[in-house]
Parts: sequence; C-alpha cells; structure tokens
Amino acid sequence: MTTDQRDDCLFCRIYAGEIPADKVAEGEDWMAFRDIDPQAPVHVLIIPRRHVESVAAFEPEDAELAGRLLLAAAETARRLGVEEDGYRLVTNRGEKAGQSVFHLHLHLLAGRRMNWPPG
Ligand code: 5GP
Ligand code: ZN
Repeated sequence: MTTDQRDDCLFCRIYAGEIPADKVAEGEDWMAFRDIDPQAPVHVLIIPRRHVESVAAFEPEDAELAGRLLLAAAETARRLGVEEDGYRLVTNRGEKAGQSVFHLHLHLLAGRRMNWPPG
C-alpha cells in the first residue's frame, strides 16, 4: 500500500489486492471491478489508486486525475461491450446522496433501460 492509500479503507484494500474483487480493467492509477451488489446486468466501479474521499475532495491540481477517471470509465465500457447499447455513470457524494464507501468511485451501469430521474 502506498502513502496515498489508507489501510482502513475498503477500496484502498481492494486496489492493493488485500481484498479480492472481480477486476475487469485497469490502468496505471485506476482499476475497475464488479460491484458486489449489482443494480444492473453490468455494474462496475471505477476507482483511482489514490485515496480521494469523493469528487468534492478534488483540488484544481487534480484536474488530470479527474479527467483520466472519466476516460477510464469510457474505456471500461468499451471493453465490456456496452458502449453501443448505452450506459450510465454515477458518483455519489455524501451519505444523503447514497455514498456508503468514502473512496471516490464511478458506478458504470448498463444492460437495462435506465430510469430518469434517478431515485
Ligand atoms: P456508494 O454507495 O458509496 O455509491 O457505492 C459503494 C458500492 O460499493 C455499492 O454499490 C456496494 O454494493 C459496493 N461494495 C461495497 N462493498 C463492496 C465489496 O467488498 N466489494 C465490491 N466489489 N463492491 C462493494
Ligand atoms: Zn481509499
């Protein structure tokens, strides 16, 4: 585990390989793995290696990392073959919005029709 990871964080531990996960894609500083409680036929989480609590914790100097995460999500969708059919990217910030793991993650949901507005 590097200094920018936390040993008390579930997703830092998944990134470090200490907790198993069904990895579907990875890059230099991100990884994508299947959600343990899928809300759609395809439900993958994209996380940065660095422990960032949520999108609200980004600083201006994190612009590149923020952009790379979006590119990572698009690449993951392509690899999973859901690009053409369509997909939804979601990130929850704060408990009221539904955040339960406080390490930034993008949810990639696909394989069914999505409702709008979301619940
Ligand atoms: P949040 O609620 O913070 O937006 O999303 C956290 C997500 O992490 C949830 O969809 C939840 O099902 C998923 N999750 C929680 N614990 C684990 C785990 O140990 N492994 C995996 N693969 N997903 C998890
Ligand atoms: Zn973390």
